[in-house]
Amino acid sequence: MSPTCWNCGKPAPSRFCAECRALQPPASDYFAFFEIPRALAPDLKDLEKRFYALSRQLHPDLFSRKSAREQEYSLESTAILNDAYRVLKDPVARTLYVLKQEGFDVGEQSTKDVPPELLEEVFELNMALEELRMGDEDARPQLEAARARFRKMRDELDADLQRQFAGWDASQRAETLAAVRALLNRRKYITNLIDKASHVPDRV
Ligand SMILES: [Zn+2]
Repeated sequence: MSPTCWNCGKPAPSRFCAECRALQPPASDYFAFFEIPRALAPDLKDLEKRFYALSRQLHPDLFSRKSAREQEYSLESTAILNDAYRVLKDPVARTLYVLKQEGFDVGEQSTKDVPPELLEEVFELNMALEELRMGDEDARPQLEAARARFRKMRDELDADLQRQFAGWDASQRAETLAAVRALLNRRKYITNLIDKASHVPDRV
């Protein structure tokens, strides 16, 4: 947000100018936009409340008789509001957003983050899938067991992530973010495995 109001020139550090009530250009940072502290585990109930309150305050219909500039800011604000809410309410999207802001490369994961014990699981999963494809129904329970194991791993990872989130929110240490990134990569890998184990091939 600009330090002074575009309309009356008075200091305008918030969304609406305290002097003339004109809507100011929106903050592009999602946390700043919601006026909440940057966090990996924000208060989601509070976020939701803010979302609905802002949706009402910033609705373009309310600005239809205002200046063209305010109409434009209302549209921009509404667009950022929706993007910001979609990202911040989702744990994975939110974490990727923070990692990116903190200068972490959040591009495609590399397989080096996958621990060796998972490679064996992957091999067994592929075998079971191949056997099912060949018509060996005995492989089906194996596949279901594998799926259950992957789900358990994901749940454990999520619990681990929650702990790291709380740690970073309290101390903002870069090492914690590095750990979060590694966990997130592993989670993505495991989610892919669950997906794979959930699409049982038909007999050929
Ligand atoms: Zn003003």
